[in-house]
Amino acid sequence: MDVVRIFDTTLRDGEQSPGFSMNTEEKIRLARQLAALNVDVIEAGFPIASRGDLEAVKKVAQEVRTVPIAALARAKKQDVDAAVEALKPAASSRLHVFLATSDLHLRVKLNMTREQALEAITSMVRHGRQHVGEVEFSAEDAGRTDIGFLCQVCRAAVDAGATILNLPDTVGYAVPEEYGAMFTKVREYLGDPDGVTLSAHCHDDLGMAVANSLAAVRAGVRQIECTINGIGERAGNASLEEVVVALSVRKESFGVTTGIRLEELFPTSRMLTEITGAQVAPNKAIVGANAFAHEAGIHQDGIIKNPLTYEIISPQSVGVPARSLVLGKHSGRNALREALRDLGFEASDTELAEVYTRVTALADQSKLVRARDILAIAHEVIRRRPAVIAAESSSAA
Ligand code: MN
Repeated sequence: MDVVRIFDTTLRDGEQSPGFSMNTEEKIRLARQLAALNVDVIEAGFPIASRGDLEAVKKVAQEVRTVPIAALARAKKQDVDAAVEALKPAASSRLHVFLATSDLHLRVKLNMTREQALEAITSMVRHGRQHVGEVEFSAEDAGRTDIGFLCQVCRAAVDAGATILNLPDTVGYAVPEEYGAMFTKVREYLGDPDGVTLSAHCHDDLGMAVANSLAAVRAGVRQIECTINGIGERAGNASLEEVVVALSVRKESFGVTTGIRLEELFPTSRMLTEITGAQVAPNKAIVGANAFAHEAGIHQDGIIKNPLTYEIISPQSVGVPARSLVLGKHSGRNALREALRDLGFEASDTELAEVYTRVTALADQSKLVRARDILAIAHEVIRRRPAVIAAESSSAA
């Protein structure tokens, strides 16, 4: 079966959105967990954005040796040089060069002609290839780029040495049929050259980032760029957990596989919420507190008889703790605190007291309190850490 590579950009596109900035230690901690999740590439930052970002990419590259580390650069020499410097300590590295290619971006943002854009792509991809073994090129705003010009852009990038071509729907405007058709046309034009991988990068402004990414896979794309919990610019990126679980549950339909260890999805999601203080919505697919909670009596009855009646994914398969807690009058708060930690929540004493009251009330009714019940209660009770607004935000692919 064909493999779809998972390019995680939680530490770059995700981190650059307001309220999600992470310090270097936090980035390293999350990068280690991304390695445990077995993603194929970790994009660790945008080194030209600040000295701090450059140092963070360097540290991640030093600490995480088992996964290739990527760094982002505009198609400018100082950007590429900063990324090359940041990637020096990496065991395996990828330079990610981007340039906007839609007429709107070229005219309004870059004040460049199409010819100048082609020249910049060629020279910067070539320059990067002299220092880094693998170069990815992204045509920012590809989704709104004239298809004929986009084909020329892809040809120029490949001729200059790029082996991954990423065609982002930067503004979240595409619908699945259109987005897939764009890749089909580019493949026809390029003739599927050996060693070149097409990549999707979708934003969720219309709630279609995951659907668009999956349409791209059907059109032959073999790398998806996504983030944990779907964090990212504006409405966010395609959610990694939704993409990989969809490809796994509907394997027969897509005919592809990923290397992701699904049982690490929930722990990774919870580590990110713990680091950033921003919880996922309770109804979020795969990792939301209610994703496996069954409220209606008919559903509960079905689940008890056979989980397949209402569950297409078992909670254990994506790493939701299976442990149930028998909480009675004599159970301690410490047991509850431990159970909360397992679920990724660090409760204050006041919060613990409130969760305890509600959990014991539930235990009075049903004796057995499952991890998913505790999760739902914790989500309502435990306060968020105040969001940190990113001091600087730089727009990127
Ligand atoms: Mn993006």
